[in-house]
Amino acid sequence: MEIVFATNNKNKLRELQEMLAGTDFKILGLADIGCNEDIVEDADTIEGNALIKARYVKEKYGYDCFADDTGLMIDALGGAPGVYSARFAGEDCDSERNIDKVLHLMEGIDNREARFVTVIALCMGDEVTTFEGEVRGKILTSRRGSDGFGYDSIFEPADGNGLSFAEMTHEQKNAISHRGRAVKKLVAYLVA
Ligand code: IMP
Repeated sequence: MEIVFATNNKNKLRELQEMLAGTDFKILGLADIGCNEDIVEDADTIEGNALIKARYVKEKYGYDCFADDTGLMIDALGGAPGVYSARFAGEDCDSERNIDKVLHLMEGIDNREARFVTVIALCMGDEVTTFEGEVRGKILTSRRGSDGFGYDSIFEPADGNGLSFAEMTHEQKNAISHRGRAVKKLVAYLVA
């Protein structure tokens, strides 16, 4: 059974293909179905953006589809950057500028508590289902580690033996990460 993962990220796609290998599901990416357009993610929640992407593919291309969206919520910043995590430092910004902005806003703040949240929205047949994964941790005062992407170098998960996400192997990170946890719930649902 073919199902689309609404992503252009090859790493995310491969990870899902590996997790569903040996099942009846064949995971396709957006490129595989000729979907090259920019899907506008303008909801004001993580869940809303995941739903926009999954529904878009289901309605326009007819495929069963799932999509993910992630946000970093920092307690002392009232939950920011949250749904704006990708463009926290401006529309055309990169991860380094996003990190610089977080570190600057967090200067002198003792409460470093934060969490990553991923929501996966699945549109299958007439049903819409969502799966959420979360990891709590703290924002470091400077970058640590060179692996990873996004905010990985300034986030130390509570159950990560004192390592930042950027100091972990992919396997270590996936085992406890927000996305890893949401993906496990999706896979359990699909193979049930
Ligand atoms: P997306 O929903 O996966 O596109 O993620 C939104 C933003 O959150 C991205 O621009 C990343 O910078 C950040 N992000 C998503 N997942 C992670 C992660 O696992 N580690 C660090 N940053 C992430």
